[in-house]
Amino acid sequence: MILSRNPIPANESERLDALNSYHILDTLPEKDYDAINRLAAYICQTPVSLITFIDADRQWYKANIGLPNNEIARSETFCRYTIMSDEVLEVPDARQNELFADNPAVVDGWVRFYAGVPIIDNEGYRLGTICVVDTVPRNLTVEQKDALVTLAHEVVSHLTLRKQKRELEESLKLHNEFFNLFNNSPEIHCVMDRTTRIQLINDSVTRILGYTPLEAIGHPIWYFFPKGDRDHLLKIVEDGLRNKKKSYELETRIITRTGEIKWVSWSVIAKKENWYASGRDITYQKKVVAELEQLSLVASKVSNGVVISDANNKVVWVNDAFEKITGYHLEDVEGNALGDKIKGELTDVSIIHKARELSKNKQSFEVDLLMYRKDGQPIWISVINSIILDQFGNIDKYVEVIIDITAKKKAEHELISAKEEAVQLNRAKDMFISVMSHEIRTPLNAVIGISHLLMEDNPNESQKENLKILKFSADNLMTLINDVLDFTKIETGNIELEKIPVDLRELVDGVVNSMQFKAKGKNVYLKAQVDESLPENIIGDKTRICQILLNLVGNSVKFTDKGGVTIDLKVIEQTNNEVRIRFEVSDTGIGIAADKINTIFESFKQADANITRLYGGTGLGLAITKRLVELHDSRINVESTYGQGSKFWFTITFNKSADTLKTKTQAVEIGLKLNILVVDDNQINRLLIDKVLKKWGVNADFAENGRQALEKIEARGDYDVVLMDIHMPEMGGLEATKVLRAKADTYSQQLPIIALTASMLNNQMGMIGEAGMNDYILKPFNPKDLYDKISKFSKE
Ligand code: ADP
Repeated sequence: MILSRNPIPANESERLDALNSYHILDTLPEKDYDAINRLAAYICQTPVSLITFIDADRQWYKANIGLPNNEIARSETFCRYTIMSDEVLEVPDARQNELFADNPAVVDGWVRFYAGVPIIDNEGYRLGTICVVDTVPRNLTVEQKDALVTLAHEVVSHLTLRKQKRELEESLKLHNEFFNLFNNSPEIHCVMDRTTRIQLINDSVTRILGYTPLEAIGHPIWYFFPKGDRDHLLKIVEDGLRNKKKSYELETRIITRTGEIKWVSWSVIAKKENWYASGRDITYQKKVVAELEQLSLVASKVSNGVVISDANNKVVWVNDAFEKITGYHLEDVEGNALGDKIKGELTDVSIIHKARELSKNKQSFEVDLLMYRKDGQPIWISVINSIILDQFGNIDKYVEVIIDITAKKKAEHELISAKEEAVQLNRAKDMFISVMSHEIRTPLNAVIGISHLLMEDNPNESQKENLKILKFSADNLMTLINDVLDFTKIETGNIELEKIPVDLRELVDGVVNSMQFKAKGKNVYLKAQVDESLPENIIGDKTRICQILLNLVGNSVKFTDKGGVTIDLKVIEQTNNEVRIRFEVSDTGIGIAADKINTIFESFKQADANITRLYGGTGLGLAITKRLVELHDSRINVESTYGQGSKFWFTITFNKSADTLKTKTQAVEIGLKLNILVVDDNQINRLLIDKVLKKWGVNADFAENGRQALEKIEARGDYDVVLMDIHMPEMGGLEATKVLRAKADTYSQQLPIIALTASMLNNQMGMIGEAGMNDYILKPFNPKDLYDKISKFSKE
């Protein structure tokens, strides 16, 4: 048989892989292999023995007795032939063997005898040899050969063990790593038997649910579910099993060790006898989702429109309400600036620009805009914008809430026109009252004036009595008109309080004096108590305070038939500049029923239907009083017991006056040297004034209207004073005054003109001044007042 010089096994590449899989090459000496090798040397009685492995190009010695080197080239080995056979290769004398005679080791004399056995692993791969060498020719006995074969098997056993050990170590390492992975997973992993009893569970169960794995193992997983969920989930799994379903995705609630409820999302697989489950804690996500759901429910279902735009102010989302309000759908406005899309002819675009400026500067805004629906209908909307910033503080989104305020705007407009209408109505009412009062006052003026004059004409006793009644009735009528006028003035805000020094003691005395007559007539007392510390003068409106007290005292006297009435002024607080005074009017009269006490301050309201019949009155007095007190920044209070009496009180803070009041010296009516032009269209008035003026020796001339007056002034040019009525036919007093004042000469410009007016409305007073009149006197006038006003123009 001719043998190849470099024989290679047919499966060389796999053989090399197999050799490498033992990881034996180039390892350190090991005593097991050395022992086998030594046995080979003993048994075969050779100086050299080797356990070798044949690598691709070399022969490497795992165990070596007798040789200085560790490896040699494969091409120089005897063993390259040994691994090709299944049996012992014995070369008794290498010099005689043509295959080996030229081998360097043979040539050098190291080797004469060689015997080797292949090491063949359990898979049949020829990995190497166990061989013995001698420097002399010889032969092995059959036993020695058999021993070598046995030792070769022994090597294979060691190799196999080594490989298994290594594989075991690797698998253990892998197992450990898997276990680490298993325990360090953020999810719960568990293995359950077919009854879902937990057999293995990782440490996450402690982190997520608070139970240690030991506490969990042995319990069925349902044990940790809330009761209701348990039945529900069992049913799902049972149904699934019936349909041969092997895997499930479930979300369950779990009760943690502390009793808290957590949400876990499970992936469960059934495999053979076991269940494998992985569970993720989704409590937070559930919460976020629930919140999001709620938020999106709010955003999408509220009745206000919501629009979300990106940082470039382009719409990305709108809710249902927006679509309803504007008629635009998301696809109509998406990618557009909202304002551009829904503006129209009458939209105030400057507001839109301003709003954009603001939002660019990260400022929110709230604006009302007239916009247009998709169908062209104009709508008023209120836009409230919020800016959402990202984590770096840059604009991320804009959220705009859109409220349809069309109805509100309409109502506002209606309200404004209603208000304007009301103002106009009020003006008309003022006008009416002013005209009416003028019309009524003028004849009444005459009645009162004439009765004055008649009283002074030495009437006889019976006439005196009648005249008294006449004057009393006329005065009463005048009070009523004044009340109505007063009330209107207050109601229309036409009243302003005067601020002049007032002596309250004198004022109270005056009130007592003027009512004493009535009280005495009814046989009831009327007294006043004034705090001693009350300052001499305060700054106030004498007429109005007087009016308040007269109203209250008048009522008390009227409604009291036994006992009496007390006026009480108390200083509550006093500083250098201010004094707070409590005014009280109390009586022992008929009182007011509890259920009526709240209505008596309303206009034209009386506590009892019989009041007018029994006591007279209009029901206006307290309404006026209440408002007058309110004008003083106060409130009127009442306490009353039906059948026992009433008590009205209020407190007012006044500034104190530094001046003491000079008591007015009563002007003595001496004769006056005056030429007066009286301008009045009413003949009785002219007659009345003439009578009064004649008494003082005044020269009176008359005109019936403004035009006549101007002609007379022009013609005569020597009047000292003009008494000018306001309302007259042809030309009124105001117009005539204006015409006169417009003339160039000083006489026309400076001639004193005193208005005769029946109106007390503020705007009328203003007009008198504006027209160029110097003063006014109210009709019906008190002759004394007229005397005071004209006497200063007297030439002497
Ligand atoms: P008038 O006195 O003109 O009827 P007022 O407005 O002054 O109108 O008063 C309204 C009503 O309040 C009176 O009609 C009366 O019923 C009741 N009232 C006012 N003051 C008293 C009082 N001192 N005692 C009993 N009742 C009073």
